[in-house]
Amino acid sequence: MIKYGELSTKKANINLFLNQLKKNVLFALKDLDVGIKFDKGRMFITLNQDNFDEVSDKLKNVFGIHEYDVAYKLKEKDFEAIAKVILDLVKDKEFKTFKVLTKRSDKKYPISSMEFSRKIGGVLLKNIDDIKVDVHNPELLVNIEIRIDGVYIYFNSERGIGGYPVGVLGKGLLMLSGGIDSPVAGYLAIKRGVKLEALYFESPPHTSLEAKNKVLELARKLAIYNNDIKVHIINFTEIQQAILQNCPHEYLITIMRRMMYRISEIVARNNRCKVIVNGESIGQVASQTLTSMNVINEVVKIPVIRPVACFDKLEIIDLAKQIDTYETSILPYEDCCTIFVPDHPVINPEFDKAREYEKLIPYEEMIYKAIKNHEVIRVTVNEEKEEFADLL
Ligand code: ATP
Ligand code: MG
Repeated sequence: MIKYGELSTKKANINLFLNQLKKNVLFALKDLDVGIKFDKGRMFITLNQDNFDEVSDKLKNVFGIHEYDVAYKLKEKDFEAIAKVILDLVKDKEFKTFKVLTKRSDKKYPISSMEFSRKIGGVLLKNIDDIKVDVHNPELLVNIEIRIDGVYIYFNSERGIGGYPVGVLGKGLLMLSGGIDSPVAGYLAIKRGVKLEALYFESPPHTSLEAKNKVLELARKLAIYNNDIKVHIINFTEIQQAILQNCPHEYLITIMRRMMYRISEIVARNNRCKVIVNGESIGQVASQTLTSMNVINEVVKIPVIRPVACFDKLEIIDLAKQIDTYETSILPYEDCCTIFVPDHPVINPEFDKAREYEKLIPYEEMIYKAIKNHEVIRVTVNEEKEEFADLL
């Protein structure tokens, strides 16, 4: 039994949210033998086999689920029958204090919620030694829901990961490097219901196939939450080389990132992504000072979401470990930025200089070409497959 939590407060859009959640749960459980039913307050997954652990492992990664329970369903609503089942279920549980909580959505049921709880409490006290009621802090909470289609009994709940169902807010394009920050940024965006596609800039032969595979592996880790993920791969070598050969070195990173932003915006628009998401964090490196962010951001109109902008590196690392991307991120393969990093990148770049220096290269043509030739790979939790690049 799944409870929606924050979702159920989104009154106007509730059907949109629930339909998306249903799709996502179906996707997550597609290989398991289960039935799914849902209404505005609850979703019920019927286990056809004894596979709760497997189902639970999948549900733990579905955004939009705030809480779920193993509920036992009885078609029979007779008090004696219910009491007997509850006694049977709590027999193996260890507890000294308990509380019974009854909800009755079947208003025709002859016993009130309060009365029902009291009576079940009485049965437990009579049949089990050394236990007592504690309404404030019980070790065992016995939940009973009397619904039209039957009676549901469940105990202490499992917490879901919360957030919004992925996809309900549309799509975003994640700038995914092989580093620690961008996968975490991606995870946080997915958590708010943004379905991601990813974009990786490679610079062969300066960056290796291992570096690319590492990014695909990170994408695969994100696919767990994103259902699956489309990865766009842009060959950035020619543009980088042109910048290196023609522009003053302290502006290399500034100009390179302006090019990355331009390309990201075009790829985003071509794929109906409404925002760019990246792993920038205020002050982390020269290109992430507030001045740099202004000079870099000015080349695009699309909103740029920076989920880890205000996180300390250690906080980002904690999250990376939690979502299991950290060990992959620290594999020592070169990134296109690290190869071209100048000795003294400018910390406070000027708009005029950036605009002037980048005019030294024919970047519009180069961008057009890079996008035209780009490669697309769809990564799922278990496999990946190539697609045709979307043409300009
Ligand atoms: P990360 O931030 O992911 O740990 P990083 O710190 O090496 O990697 P930065 O140079 O700080 O990366 O770049 C900031 C952000 O720009 C990254 O988080 C990522 O979103 C984006 N970015 C950098 N390099 C690339 C790349 N090669 N491909 C795609 N996006 C990139
Ligand atoms: Mg970074």
